[in-house]
Amino acid sequence: MPIYQYDCAGCADRVEVLHRSAASMDNASCPRCGSAELTRVMSMFARARTGAQRLEEVDIEAQQAALQDGDERSFARWARRAGAEYDEALGTNYRELAEQTEAGEDPVDRFDAGHSFEHNLQHGRMRAERERQAKEGA
Ligand SMILES: [Zn+2]
Repeated sequence: MPIYQYDCAGCADRVEVLHRSAASMDNASCPRCGSAELTRVMSMFARARTGAQRLEEVDIEAQQAALQDGDERSFARWARRAGAEYDEALGTNYRELAEQTEAGEDPVDRFDAGHSFEHNLQHGRMRAERERQAKEGA
């Protein structure tokens, strides 16, 4: 199921909408404020893939570059997207980090996020590769 990002004119925020059907793509509304005035944002995250494919396609340098300017708002935005896309595949908690950051808690994990993301990614890729080999060997 594709997740698309939109800039919402209603609450002036960037939001994500998970589409379960083509009809829902035609009638997208903001999950926060309900506004239908959404402008689609093209994103490096916004494609539906399997967990292993997602991990293969991650451009770690682009992700680290996205984290580099390092203010809280941009981190929260990044963590929200990374959580939606990778929490399940990587067993990470970026969604939670996004919420903590938005709540003003400024979690310490924010400062090392580029490095720990790369670390989690490498583990995730190894795990996916082992699972693939196990499946083929069976
Ligand atoms: Zn809105």
